[in-house]
Amino acid sequence: MKDAEKQVIPPSPKTVILPLIIIIITVVILILISFLGISGIGPRDLFGGGMRQYNYEYMMMDTFVTISLFTDAGKEHAGEAAQKTFEEMERLESLLHRNTPGSDIRKINDNAGIAPVIVDAETFFIISKAIEYGELSCGAFDISIAPLIDLWGFGSEDITVPEPEAIRESRQHIDYQKIKTDPLSRSVSIEEGMALDLGGIAKGYIVDRGIDTLKENGIGRAFLNAGGDIRLIGGKPGPEPWNVGIQNPRQEDGSRGIAGKIALFDSAVVTSGDYQRFFEEDGRRYHHIIDPATGYPADRLLSVTIVHDQALDADILSTAVFVMGKERGLKLIEELPGTEAVIITPELEIINTAGLEGKFEKIP
Ligand code: AMP
Ligand code: MG
Repeated sequence: MKDAEKQVIPPSPKTVILPLIIIIITVVILILISFLGISGIGPRDLFGGGMRQYNYEYMMMDTFVTISLFTDAGKEHAGEAAQKTFEEMERLESLLHRNTPGSDIRKINDNAGIAPVIVDAETFFIISKAIEYGELSCGAFDISIAPLIDLWGFGSEDITVPEPEAIRESRQHIDYQKIKTDPLSRSVSIEEGMALDLGGIAKGYIVDRGIDTLKENGIGRAFLNAGGDIRLIGGKPGPEPWNVGIQNPRQEDGSRGIAGKIALFDSAVVTSGDYQRFFEEDGRRYHHIIDPATGYPADRLLSVTIVHDQALDADILSTAVFVMGKERGLKLIEELPGTEAVIITPELEIINTAGLEGKFEKIP
């Protein structure tokens, strides 16, 4: 018996093939899990220590909002953090959109020339910030732009080039200096014929609060993108910086070509471009960023990307610099601490500010 115990039994073909099949199936499953993780359906563990990447997508603010995050706290925790973030962002969208019945902005517009409106502290903060930047940009950024946006028909089915006389008339009502704010009563009032539109600023604020929600839920590495308004928490595991792509403004064949990328940790990166919302009439392009000085779409630049620690400031400045153009816009960015930019001119020249040297890379 002793000899029999020591005996090495040669494996039968069956006992070799079965483990082989199991190994092959396991490898295929692992490849599938990793692939699905990349495409946003499930998590993947590429970093060890239980650190996994989770991706979420939600339609709001007329765009897809995506969150990509890394955590070792598990799928359930990650999902809850993303859910709470989307809920907070949705709450703010309702508060700030001028078309939402009962929203603060709707109430201010409905009471133009009638009475001041007491608003939420958040609304008051955003409007005050917008007025501040109206001043800094010499009126290039102006949230009282609503009459012109409506005249052009952006945000409606009825988009068309208005008559010059109608543009002249609308421009009479656009002046951020006529927005009256009272911090004591926290009220805002505008004159008859005026209306506010937070389209150039609200998304940035909403992204900042989304980031706060992720952090409050223990998320230390995340990439939040609300249709071009991006903010990052930390970097990728490694630690590695996040790479934020800047779209090529003249590649609209769906190939999503990028003109360059910026490697960053913990920043907001917001882009305004003439390719984001536009229509063409008689071979000309008309887009949604209006120069308050002319009443027509600003045509000095094709795109402006701003890097700042807050998405709110980056959002305002991307719109402001887009209107101001290369010289005035870059001068303003240079004056503002902690603010960097990449601009693309109509000649397709790509210019970055000094603070992005070594971080920004053009892609040929
Ligand atoms: P953004 O994509 O951040 O550049 O914002 C564009 C949106 O801001 C437009 O859809 C309008 O709602 C609004 N907007 C357009 N022109 C201006 C302007 N000169 N100042 C402030 N907001 C503007
Ligand atoms: Mg903006």
